[in-house]
Parts: sequence; structure tokens; C-alpha cells
Amino acid sequence: MGGIYRSMEKAELHLHLEGSLTPETLYEIEPRLRPEEVVERYSYADFEGFIASYKWVTSLLRTPESYALAMRRLIERLEAENVRYAEVTLSAGVALVRGLDFGTLFEAVAREAARSRVEVAFILDAIRQLGPEHALQVARLAAERASDGVVAFGIGGIEALGPAEWFTDVFRFVKEHGLHVTAHAGETAGPESVWSALHAGAERIGHGFRAVEDPALVNYLAEHDIPLEICLSSNLALRLVPNLAAHPARRLFEAGVPLTLNTDDPAMFHTTLAREFELAEAELGFRRDELIQIAANGFRYSFRGARFARV
Ligand SMILES: [Zn+2]
Repeated sequence: MGGIYRSMEKAELHLHLEGSLTPETLYEIEPRLRPEEVVERYSYADFEGFIASYKWVTSLLRTPESYALAMRRLIERLEAENVRYAEVTLSAGVALVRGLDFGTLFEAVAREAARSRVEVAFILDAIRQLGPEHALQVARLAAERASDGVVAFGIGGIEALGPAEWFTDVFRFVKEHGLHVTAHAGETAGPESVWSALHAGAERIGHGFRAVEDPALVNYLAEHDIPLEICLSSNLALRLVPNLAAHPARRLFEAGVPLTLNTDDPAMFHTTLAREFELAEAELGFRRDELIQIAANGFRYSFRGARFARV
């Protein structure tokens, strides 16, 4: 496969800093790690296994310096594959639960971002199964930084244990503070979870591929120009689809749903954004001109892009 998708200008809208930590960066942060343990932690059979690994990786980020290093290494990789704009999700909810001072780690990460050739914006996300009070704490951290590079608030975690309607008031709060809202939905739960996220006020849907199971929802997404943040390698690694040829992204695209391609947790899913485009072409049958359009969607549906511009 040629380097066209590597050299193409791209934007990444669904990218967790913690999931971008490669084993090499982990060794830089914690030189005493055993290689066998790292290899083991970077393979999982399902969503629960992945969450356990994600927690382990995140537990190694203890200081502002380690967050800054993670950000620096991520930016280097984004620059190398011509990602011009990235909305990087920080698990602020996890940092709160771990008792870290979010202010100092955010400053460290934002300082790295400011030095980068990539335009970086931040999304702070909360752990949905911890409920709305926890989410409101994260929302306040986001709102306080609305003029310092935070563009949105999001919810992640286990869909079935934290329905999006719990967060309707929190979503309203962040919007009143000038922020946007994205929600993981329709990944490990069905279309009702996507409906719930939309009713609660989400403007983009993280994953959302299970929307395909409900034709009325597919129509709604297309008619209301609501983009899905598709992450192919992530869905395959977590065995949410049996193979990429069976991934619903192509059907959603043909039904007029706006799609973007993203890596989710690139190190943990052993991928890059260019590779996601290559897979879409090779495994899902997207044509090159369609993928050029999808790459443009990354900019259009960014929270600083044309779709969400405030008039
Ligand atoms: Zn995600």
C-alpha cells in the first residue's frame, strides 16, 4: 500500500492520550518495567480486558512530567504522519479518581501542545459509570479551561452502566460554558444508547457503528448531519465486529451518515491514522475519492470546524 494516506493532510477527532502510550514511552517513564508484562498488557480479548490494560497504562502516569512526555511522543507521531489537527481526549475523570492534581498535569500537556506544529485541542472525559456528580466535577475542569484549548466534554467507560440520559444537565452546563459534547455510544451497546446520547445533547458520537441496527436512527444521523467517530482497528481488536469486512461503516456511509476515521487508542490497538484509511480502502471497499472526502470530514466535523461554527 502506498503512502498516500500518510502524506494526506488529516485530522484526528477521537484519540485518547493515555491510549497513545507506546511500550517504548512506558519504558521511558518507568525503566523498571518487565518487557513480558508490557507485551501481555498490550493484548486483550475483549472490552473488559482492554479497560483493565488501559487502567494499568494510566496508572503509570503519575506526574505532570510523565503526562508531558506522553504528549510529546504523541505529537511526534502525529507530525510524522501529517495529522494537522487533533482533538486529544484526556481522561480527566481517571485523574480525579486517582487523586492527581488535574491543573498541573493539564498545564504540562498544554505546554507541549503549544510547541507543536499540530493544532491541538482538548476534550476532557468523565467515567460514565461513576454517575453525574463525578461527571459534573470533570465538566467544571473543562469549563474552567474553555479559553485554554479545551473544546469539548465527553463521556467514556461502560455504556450499559452509565446511560447518557444521566448526563443531560452536565451536557447543558458545559454548553453554557461554550464547550461541545461528544459521547461514546453504540460501541458496546446498541442503537438505544446512541438515541440516549442524542437526546441528552451529544453533538458527535464516539464509534456509534451499532446505529446501523436501527434504520430510523441512521436516517436521523444523516438528516441532522451528526458525525460518527469511526475507529476500525479498535472495534476489531475488542472483537466488537467479527472482521473488518463486516464493519457497518460502509453501510452507514452509503446511507449518508457523516463519518470520520480515527485511531481511538493508537498504541494499544497497534495502529496509526494512515493505517485506518488503508484498512478502510483494503477491507471495507472505500474508494480513494470517498476517503479523501472522509479525511476532509475530520476538519469539517472538528469542534473548531465548519459544522460546529457558532454564528
Ligand atoms: Zn474512545
